[in-house]
Amino acid sequence: MNYVIKVIIVFLIFGFSAKAVDFRTHKLTEQVHVLFGQGGNIAIHIGDDGTYIVDDQFAKLSAQIKQQISALKPGSPEFVINTHFHGDHTGGNEAFSLAGSHVIAHDNVHKRLVKKHGKASAYLPRVSFDNTLTLHFNNEQAHIAHFAHAHTDGDAVVTFTKANIVHMGDLYFNLGGLPFVDVDSGGSVDGLLKALHHIVTALDDNSVVIPGHGAVSNKAELLQYIARVEQARTLILNAMTQAATQEEMVKFDPLSPLNLPYTSWLPKERVTQLFYRSLKKE
Ligand SMILES: [Zn+2]
Repeated sequence: MNYVIKVIIVFLIFGFSAKAVDFRTHKLTEQVHVLFGQGGNIAIHIGDDGTYIVDDQFAKLSAQIKQQISALKPGSPEFVINTHFHGDHTGGNEAFSLAGSHVIAHDNVHKRLVKKHGKASAYLPRVSFDNTLTLHFNNEQAHIAHFAHAHTDGDAVVTFTKANIVHMGDLYFNLGGLPFVDVDSGGSVDGLLKALHHIVTALDDNSVVIPGHGAVSNKAELLQYIARVEQARTLILNAMTQAATQEEMVKFDPLSPLNLPYTSWLPKERVTQLFYRSLKKE
């Protein structure tokens, strides 16, 4: 095939797939907005100092995400905070870095992105931290806290302390079901629950909770989610007396009494396997 035609076809495919994403911004306060697109939810903080965002979805969407941010306040974000290394939360790092943003993430996100993109890559965070970091910007203190071994081994939860809004990354899947515990990247069911309990204790009835995926939420819904994860944990642990291997566990189907919805990329079998593998170790 002619090279030019190939280029046009590739452009059309990418153009259409990117166009097909329906972006929506949801205003939480004058300063904090949530951008829903494809992949992890993005928090946008705007103010007198400029703009910063939490997570940046997929690389192919960067141009459109920039447009959405610019519609709120012209210019590129000063900072991009990554809640963890997964591609649907860090895919825009390169494009934003090249536009002048400084990416901030946990040390383990830096390590994992070096492995994935190489040492010289613009995907890498410029600032990495171990336990906590505070961003003093736009007359807000954004408290960034690491929780060890939860969704992955590099999770960060971002609290806009004045606004009483928390972005939980993928510690919180607000889709009515169970979370993805990335056991192969240092995630753990018990670590996740420990983190969730710690976070929910600091919230009040006015707190606004931004999940990694799904609609904007609150403390009451987060408590229901925690209860659901705990139920699943108990069911899997109880089933271990009768199902010794991962295959037996899947066959035993201990999560069926919960009657939860599942997505095509995270079906019940996979959740069962991941919970089993995590709890077997703990
Ligand atoms: Zn994730």
